[in-house]
Amino acid sequence: MKTNKQNADFLHIGKKLIKWYDTNARELPWRENQHPYNIWICEILLQQTQVKQGLGHYLRFIERFPNVEELHKASEDEVLLYWKGLGYYSRAINLHKAAHQIIEEFEGKFPTHYQDILKLKGVGKYTAAAVASICFDEKIPAIDGNFYRALSRIFADDFDMSSSKAFQYFTDLALLIMPEDKPGDFNQAIMDIGSEICKPKNPLCGECPVNNDCIAYQTGRISEFPVKTKKTKVTDLSLKYYFIKFQNQFLIKQRGNDFIWKKLYEFPMSVPESWEELIINSKIINHKLTHKNMTIEINTIELESKKALERFASENDFIIVDEKLADEKSFPKPLETFYKKRDIAEIGKLPF
Ligand code: SF4
Repeated sequence: MKTNKQNADFLHIGKKLIKWYDTNARELPWRENQHPYNIWICEILLQQTQVKQGLGHYLRFIERFPNVEELHKASEDEVLLYWKGLGYYSRAINLHKAAHQIIEEFEGKFPTHYQDILKLKGVGKYTAAAVASICFDEKIPAIDGNFYRALSRIFADDFDMSSSKAFQYFTDLALLIMPEDKPGDFNQAIMDIGSEICKPKNPLCGECPVNNDCIAYQTGRISEFPVKTKKTKVTDLSLKYYFIKFQNQFLIKQRGNDFIWKKLYEFPMSVPESWEELIINSKIINHKLTHKNMTIEINTIELESKKALERFASENDFIIVDEKLADEKSFPKPLETFYKKRDIAEIGKLPF
C-alpha cells in the first residue's frame, strides 16, 4: 500500500457501518434466516440483477427449490426455466452443478469455510466471502464494484480499480476498517450503502454514516473516485436465424455448452439455399451483452406443409413446438421476445 495507512486506526469506520446496519438494513427475504443456501442463491442471482428486479425471481426460485436436495433432484431444463428472464444463464447451470457437488462431495451439507465454498462451481471470491462472513462469521471482506467505489472514496484513494492488482489492494484496504466482530453485518452494510447511498452518480452523502470520515466527501473530490482507466472491451457479433413455421408450430434446438447463451434454445441458423426464397419477412434486433453488441437477423419462413417442417426437424435434430410448449423452454431474451411479439410490425424498435 503506497500510503502509511497501515499505521493508522480506521476500525471506527467499520464500527460505524455495523451500527448503521443495525437499524438501517434493508429487509430482504434471504436475510430472515441467513441460511447459506439462501444467501448463496441470492448472491448469485443478484450478480447481474438489481434487487428490485431480482426479488420476485428469488422468491419463485426458492419456493420451487427450497433446499439443495430439491435443486440437485431437478433437471437442468427446469432450473433454467426458473431462471427465465434473469439472463446470464450460465449462473443457473452452475448453481445446478454446485448442488450436485454439495450432495456428492460435501455429503449434502453446505460447506462452512471460505476456501471450501470457493470450490463450488460458479462461486467466486465475492460470493464465497459473502456466504462465509454472513453465515459463518469469517472475517473476509466481500469485495465487488460497490466496495471498490465506497473504499476509494472514503480513503480518496486513486488506485486503479481496473488493474489486475485491484482485488488484493482493496481487500487490504477493507481489512483496515473491518472489525473482528460481525463480519457479515459489515459486508452487508457496504452492500447496502454501495447500492443505496454511495451510488456511482450523485451519492447521498448527507445520509451516509461515514461522511465525517470520508476524505473524498470532506475535500469535495467525490467525482474523482473511483479511478478506472481500462474500459470493458466490447466486440460486435452478428447472428442470423430462421424462424421456420407451419401454422402455429416452429422449430427450436438446444444450444451447446460453449460460447454465449449456453444450453438455451434457439431457432435454426441455416436452411437449404432454395428456402431463402420462402422468407416472408426479416427483422433486425439489436441486443447488448456486457461484452458484445449483437445484431440479430431473424428471417421468417412459412412452410406449406407440416411434413416439410417434420422432415427438416428430423434431418437437423430440431424439435417442433408451439408457444405453449416453447414456454417450458428457456430462450435468449431477444429470441423469446421475437416469437412472442412477432406480429408487431415494429419489433426492431422494441427495447430488447
Ligand atoms: S460520504 Fe458520500 S462518497 Fe463518502 S462513502 Fe459516504 S456516500 Fe460515499
